[in-house]
Amino acid sequence: MTTRRITEHLPFGEKRDPRFFGQDILSVSQFDRDDLETIFAVAHEMYGIVERIGSFDLLKGKILTNLFYEPSTRTSSSFVAAIERLGGSVVQINNVTYSSVSKGETLEDTVRTMESYTDAIVLRHPEKGSAARAAAAAAKPVINAGDGPGEHPTQALLDAYTIREEMGTMDGLTVTMLGDLKYGRTVHSLAKLLTMYDVKINYVSPDILEMPESLVAEVDAAGIEQHATADLDEVLAATDILYVTRIQKERFEDPSEYDLVKDSYVITPETLSGAKERMAVMHPLPRVGEISTDVDSDPRAAYFRQMEYGMYVRMALLALVLGRA
Ligand code: ASP
Repeated sequence: MTTRRITEHLPFGEKRDPRFFGQDILSVSQFDRDDLETIFAVAHEMYGIVERIGSFDLLKGKILTNLFYEPSTRTSSSFVAAIERLGGSVVQINNVTYSSVSKGETLEDTVRTMESYTDAIVLRHPEKGSAARAAAAAAKPVINAGDGPGEHPTQALLDAYTIREEMGTMDGLTVTMLGDLKYGRTVHSLAKLLTMYDVKINYVSPDILEMPESLVAEVDAAGIEQHATADLDEVLAATDILYVTRIQKERFEDPSEYDLVKDSYVITPETLSGAKERMAVMHPLPRVGEISTDVDSDPRAAYFRQMEYGMYVRMALLALVLGRA
């Protein structure tokens, strides 16, 4: 965000939180634990309001741009549902081939265009750092909905919200991240976010898909105990949160490398027989075989609840960023 151009007058009683109002959401590192508590508290209110009345007019008149250069089901549609449940509306651009991007327009010019029509831009783009570039070009808030293998901060917020809902707390937990830790942006954001809590993190992946060293160093600097292995059995019994990820096929330069690792881990009911009675299996979705559908009926399978919580967390973020929480 370069300059502020917000001139509207506040209706009586409306409150704006300067930590969020008009701000870009680019990385979980921009938040502290207090900020997270605020987001979770507002998300919890949103949850209750949706249960009771479905939608309300908090953001009436506000328009969001959903600008997606990469495929999305949950992030894109939960942002649409979130703004619409708050009484606002959305301009959806999810097939950039039919926009001026196919004529060679830069990301910067596209976001400048969309901010002149709408109040905030949700951006998903294949390049790491793209959300920061867009934010530098735009005066209105840009929300990073995934910048290539970089970060996915709104996913990490909903993941943390899910952990609290499932386990009651984050402190004292052992979180095991499994799968593609190299290219998986959701685990990058979640590991950074977890540094704000008293947790232990295990990384389980094939050798070629290990968590990037820079991230491990960042988590280490926060004093978090970390352990990396290729063998899930080594850490499963002590795990409170098993965070499973998809091998990110689209990020491999060499397709034969993908073939080597694609079936590395499959969670089945048998796998979970070695896990705690009280724990949660999470996944940002989509899954492509790494959790068997037989696991879905296990009460520990939290991934469908997790995606529902995503809408409440995104409602909270929109309300806070657009200034009416
Ligand atoms: N939906 C998540 C993402 O966009 C996870 C995935 O695609 O595997 O990063």
